Amino acid sequence: MINLKIFSKILDLIFPDKVTCVNCGCEIYSSDKYSLCEECLKTLTIIKGKTCRICGRGISEISSYEKCMECRKNDFYFDGGFSLCVFSGTIKKLLMDFKYNEKNYLYSVFSDLIIDNLNLNDLDIDLITFVPVHFTRKFFRGYNQSELIANDISKKIGINSKKILIRTKITKRLKVLSKEERKNEIEGAFIINNKKNFTRKNILIIDDIYTTGTTLNECSKVLKYNGAEKIYICTLAIRCKD
Ligand SMILES: [Zn+2]
Ligand SMILES: [Zn+2]
Repeated sequence: MINLKIFSKILDLIFPDKVTCVNCGCEIYSSDKYSLCEECLKTLTIIKGKTCRICGRGISEISSYEKCMECRKNDFYFDGGFSLCVFSGTIKKLLMDFKYNEKNYLYSVFSDLIIDNLNLNDLDIDLITFVPVHFTRKFFRGYNQSELIANDISKKIGINSKKILIRTKITKRLKVLSKEERKNEIEGAFIINNKKNFTRKNILIIDDIYTTGTTLNECSKVLKYNGAEKIYICTLAIRCKD
């Protein structure tokens, strides 16, 4: 019996539909996974092996700890987490295109990569949500990138996605602030949108980039204070400590 993959490659050769790689723009086959050419796919810095059980950052295989150094220093409200890539190279460029160059169709590529590489199904999740942006930011950009990914993952794995948080404050760039300043800046930035239906539920929060965990921690705190049971986080890319 002819292998389906080969059959589809043959079909692509006979009827090419001029699909291009979402990163470099070279021509690819419509059957190429994630709409990325082989070369670009190879350059994704997907995190493999042993990871910190709190933030998902890669840690040494021989480490006797379950947490990375940052998560050992901080007490987070979230109970566990994953991150797809290290924030560098191809994923960094794709994320910038996604956020600032109106390539909002990339959400589907990202959600496929997350579903195929992270074991979200091993978690007992009742509900998926996302880190909200302030309504003015959504108005000017036209979309919230984390919301698009969360809703697509929800559709693909069959777990409900809901907007349960509202961002009430436009915050400064947290990356450049000290730990204390970050805490003060983010404090009170989120309120509950809809209190119904998440008491004692396990929630997965989706966000695009993990830097210090401050924003995800504040979201987790608000959800836990309002009755959520376990909180897991999933980010597309995590910045490594400089
Ligand atoms: Zn490419
Ligand atoms: Zn960690």
